[in-house]
Amino acid sequence: MTAPKEQELLAENAELRLRLEEAQETLDAIRSGSVDALVVGDDVYTLDRAHATSNKLRSDVLAQMEDAVIGMDREDRIIYMNPAAERQYGMTASQALGNERNVLYQEIWLSTADQVEATESLHKNGAYRARTMQLKHNGQEVHVESAVTALRDHLGEVNGRLEVIRDVSERHRAEAEIRHAQLTITQRERQFSTLVENSPDIFARLDRQYRHIYVSPVIERYGGQPSCHYLGKTCESLGMPPELCERWNAAVEEVFQTRSDRSISFKFTTPANDERFLEARLIPEFAEDGSVESVLAIATDFTDRERMDAALRESQARLRLTIEAARIGDWDLDLRTGEARHSARHDQCFGYAEPRADWSFEVFMAHVHPDDREFVERLFHQAVATNGEWHFECRVIWPNGSVHWIDAHGSIHQEGGQPARMLGIVADATSRKLAERALLDADRRKDEFLATLAHELRNPLAPIRNALEIMRLSKEPQAQEKARHMIERQVWQMVHLVDDLMDVSRITQGKVELRRERIDIAVAIQNAIDTSRPLIDARHHTLEARLPAPQTVFVYADVTRLIQIVSNLLNNAAKYTPEGGRIVLSAQEKDRQAVITIQDTGTGIPAEMLPRVFDMFTQVDRALERSQGGLGIGLALVRKLVEMHGGSVQAKSPGLGGGSTFEVQLPALASASTPESRPSEDRDSPQAGHAQIGPNVLVVDDNVDSAESLATMLALMGCQTQMAHDGMEAVKVAQSFLPDVVMLDIGLPLLTGHEVARHIRAQPWGQTMLLVALTGWGQEEDRRKSQDAGFNHHMVKPVDLETLDKLLAQRKLH
Ligand code: ADP
Repeated sequence: MTAPKEQELLAENAELRLRLEEAQETLDAIRSGSVDALVVGDDVYTLDRAHATSNKLRSDVLAQMEDAVIGMDREDRIIYMNPAAERQYGMTASQALGNERNVLYQEIWLSTADQVEATESLHKNGAYRARTMQLKHNGQEVHVESAVTALRDHLGEVNGRLEVIRDVSERHRAEAEIRHAQLTITQRERQFSTLVENSPDIFARLDRQYRHIYVSPVIERYGGQPSCHYLGKTCESLGMPPELCERWNAAVEEVFQTRSDRSISFKFTTPANDERFLEARLIPEFAEDGSVESVLAIATDFTDRERMDAALRESQARLRLTIEAARIGDWDLDLRTGEARHSARHDQCFGYAEPRADWSFEVFMAHVHPDDREFVERLFHQAVATNGEWHFECRVIWPNGSVHWIDAHGSIHQEGGQPARMLGIVADATSRKLAERALLDADRRKDEFLATLAHELRNPLAPIRNALEIMRLSKEPQAQEKARHMIERQVWQMVHLVDDLMDVSRITQGKVELRRERIDIAVAIQNAIDTSRPLIDARHHTLEARLPAPQTVFVYADVTRLIQIVSNLLNNAAKYTPEGGRIVLSAQEKDRQAVITIQDTGTGIPAEMLPRVFDMFTQVDRALERSQGGLGIGLALVRKLVEMHGGSVQAKSPGLGGGSTFEVQLPALASASTPESRPSEDRDSPQAGHAQIGPNVLVVDDNVDSAESLATMLALMGCQTQMAHDGMEAVKVAQSFLPDVVMLDIGLPLLTGHEVARHIRAQPWGQTMLLVALTGWGQEEDRRKSQDAGFNHHMVKPVDLETLDKLLAQRKLH
């Protein structure tokens, strides 16, 4: 029921009640005779004490009344009915008079107590008022309000009663409705407060001065204080941060002004230092006059959502970063609308610097290499048919015609059981594919190399074994000599092979140090020619050397390495040129570069191999190589050594059969300065020849074969030798044998070579002995260690006879 209707009914009820009371008063006055005249409608009744007119008056008054009036005798028989009663009960007075009132209705008391009280009051006070219900004959229930007055006889005894009956059904209904409405309101209020008090949201009501006039109990969880603490206080007086107070009050004020809702988000730090994120909805509450009376704030804590959102944002950012770092392009296609989205990186994988707008499945397929289209299409269709995923690598052709590789992954996403979207990523796999291919290539070359190496190492063994057999069987000095030469040649080849291998491994590990000095290039090249001469001659080539005059072109180089570079190239020219060919070696200074060119009339190199011949283990024609005894590492060595000198090397050839040219460029030094070294000096020195009466040499090596072969060689060179195989023995033999020279291995059992050297040097007899370290390690650091231990020389195994010869010659001069 609406408020105005309720008000209206209440007012009407009050008025009726007033009128009933008035009527009652009038009746009482008439009855007590204290009234002289009455005005009813237009008629004026003057009352005289003789009651003559009083009856007339009474009946007129009663006839005028809107309420039903029924008079009853002591037995409840009807003795009077006014017109209103006739109307109300649908029976004329003449019909009803003398009958019990049941002919009109059945009276039902709402409670027995009321009935008892009413009867008592009638006898005691001569009147009562009551609310009862009347059940009419037509079955209608009528709620009535009766004012009952006792009728008395002349002795004052109650002999009947007069009932003024008002139909209050309407009012009763209204009251019932009011009660119901009130009940509903109460229930709703209870529900509301249950909801508000148990809600995780904070409810607060604010008055015009922004003071809290209600705060739900949950606030205690946030502020640590019970809700009553907040009442009557503003944000400021509650000590909220000023910035928050300002925003809060402004939002509340806006609701008062605009009479409409507002929202405000804010952060709140609890006393336990927990930062919470809240969003409040501010709702206007209206007074009866329509003005905004208060503002209801409902604040929702969305911290968890905010944290989840933040975590989501972070993981999305991380994903984006990963995708970016991994150079992955992504795309998605709505299968229902055909709408597609592609990242810029996706387009780059297909060779587009600027994004392309019109991607479709057909456009994509048009980019796929024709040879790959069939399987790519099959995989996509399979994925769509099975709602599955796809993963493949395929070639794509860029707009500029170049071929690239892509790596594609993706899946179909369903909505409502139907394929709805295709999500995919794509990455440029070109460099990986190339690297994979290069790796496979390198692996293949390594396998070939190992096969070649095994072959090359085994090759010399057969002739050596044969030569040994010849030496054992034949006493012929000539045959013996030939066999010895054969062994020497094969051993030289093996040593050369192993040297190259060692070099490569040491260079790649960065272990090679250059001992650079100012070098006359003409002298160094001449040395290289000398080194390669036997091979050139053996293959009957002619060599034309066009060298600069001595002392004109200088480079800053490690002379041994420079000779190695040139001699390697010369050997190749000799190897890869059919017998009787021509080799031209020239050197000159050009643009401050020393340029060394080696040109041959040999097999030449096919164009596609030119950029690769410097790669490790590369051989153009493997069948040929084996017969030539190479491993495919010579040019790799050359390039590394040249680069270590700050230079460059390149190969040129018009193709197979056209001969080859190798050109080395090294930075040249100014020619004016005086040369500091004569690199070919050692080699130029006359062959020492074998000493007839050589020095006493002690050979110390734990490898008995090595010790014995060296001792034999020394003996052949005219030396007296003794051997020792560990450090202790070495010291002992040195003391008894007192050799001129000790050839001392470093890695010895019991005492190391260094310790042995120190021990010898500490003895009076050991001061002048020539101590030679024999080791596999020739680094600067190793040489320094030997020197510190007291060695005179440091020789790298295997012992070079020439150097040894020179050493012994020096000793002889002592
Ligand atoms: P190796 O000679 O041990 O095989 P290299 O690294 O010295 O290894 O040379 C690599 C390859 O380059 C050779 O196998 C050969 O095929 C080619 N090559 C080198 N020099 C020449 C040359 N002067 N003429 C023709 N081919 C050459």
